[in-house]
This record gives sequence, structure tokens and C-alpha cells, in this order.
Amino acid sequence: MPDSPLFASKKCPSCFQWSTWQQKPDDRCEHCGNLLDPQAAKSAVAREKVANQKTPSVILMEINPEDAPLTRFLKTIVRGGQLAFAAILSFIMWVVAAVAG
Ligand SMILES: [Zn+2]
Repeated sequence: MPDSPLFASKKCPSCFQWSTWQQKPDDRCEHCGNLLDPQAAKSAVAREKVANQKTPSVILMEINPEDAPLTRFLKTIVRGGQLAFAAILSFIMWVVAAVAG
């Protein structure tokens, strides 16, 4: 086993033998070839998917200071809805990525 702090050993969850582990999510057991940390691999894939996904582009409504109070009020509501929609959409995409991964 390499005598480096970068290398650690981890007990394989499949064959219960100690294997060299570089603490990477895609490290595999040197005995049976299964992933040493399936949970980490899973979340890494999910993270990558989320990172690759473009954030929903929502064009926010502009609020002009010279607008009438009622117009400003309505625009604020619409803008709040847009922000909430964007947040919900990105949350759903995150859940889908996490479940699919
Ligand atoms: Zn193994």
C-alpha cells in the first residue's frame, strides 16, 4: 500500500476486504471491483447532473420607480411569483437528479 496521506484504505462494502482508497467517489475495490463508496458515487453523479443543468432563465419583471403605486405593487407580485417559480423548478430538477442518480 503506498505510504502517502493521499491513499487510505476502506473496507469494501461488497466483499468486506480492505482496499486502497483514494477517497474518490469512483474508487473501486481491488478485490471484487465494486465501488468502495456507492453513496459518494451516487451523490457525485447527482451533483454533476445538477451542475450541468442550466439554471432556468427567468426574465424578471422590471419595476420602474416612476410607475404608479398600483403598477409597482402588481409587478412586485409577478416578480415574486417568478422567483418562486424559478426556485421550485430548480428544486424539482435537483430532486429528479438526486432520485435518478
Ligand atoms: Zn470488494
